[in-house]
Amino acid sequence: MAVDPILLVGAGILGLCVGSFLNVCILRLAKEDRKQRSLFHPPSTCPRCGRRIAWRDNVPVVSWLVLRGRCRWCGQPISIQYPIIEAVVALLWIAAMVAYGPTVRFAAAATLGTILIGIAVTDARHYLIPDEYNWTGLIIGLGLSLTAGVPGFLDKVAGAAAGFGLLYAVGLVGGWVFKEEAMGGGDIKMMAMVGAFVGWKLVLPTVFAGALFGTLVYVPLLLLRKRKQHVPFGVFLAMGAAVVFVFGDAILDWYKRFFWAG
Ligand SMILES: [Zn+2]
Repeated sequence: MAVDPILLVGAGILGLCVGSFLNVCILRLAKEDRKQRSLFHPPSTCPRCGRRIAWRDNVPVVSWLVLRGRCRWCGQPISIQYPIIEAVVALLWIAAMVAYGPTVRFAAAATLGTILIGIAVTDARHYLIPDEYNWTGLIIGLGLSLTAGVPGFLDKVAGAAAGFGLLYAVGLVGGWVFKEEAMGGGDIKMMAMVGAFVGWKLVLPTVFAGALFGTLVYVPLLLLRKRKQHVPFGVFLAMGAAVVFVFGDAILDWYKRFFWAG
């Protein structure tokens, strides 16, 4: 079924705006000055000259292109991260609309995907998963599940509990074996949030996929650099969660046929 083009344009514009807000989240939730700057106040300023950014210079993607990536006042470069995040989130929202149409599933995909991007960028840079992403996602995930009635809600509550419990256990065992913190508190809360979106059956496949991505990407890096490094597991968990959200039911089907039908 083809989706109405107006819905695609709407999803794209909404995605650009949400991406713009996500840029603010990425910048402010990871900074030490977060106690002084909330997400909504004060308004955005140029980090070099301190001038306030006018609305016309704050239009997602377009302003960056018009200004050719430089501050209007001081001419210093503006990070290309801003338009990239905005464009990626917009494409994500359009893709979710193409895949699911104007449904609850679209809202879940767009929300979860946006939060996962925020977490992945922040964790990769600062080895940190801000609680704001986790709590916001948990509440929205559980809220959306209410549209599927009590069974749908219970499935996602069980998902959040299973996600929390599983990573808490992994952390406990890891800490016991390696004698150091194997799983940060952020990872545990993040998995509770993901569980609220994918449901309890897909918690284990998500963690498995995350561990697999982590191994594929990180082991070669570790071997090349030949030293022990902190692993931003949130990045790989985010990749696993995205794959499982999209293909989870197919994975479960395949798994059932493989083990019970043969
Ligand atoms: Zn400036």
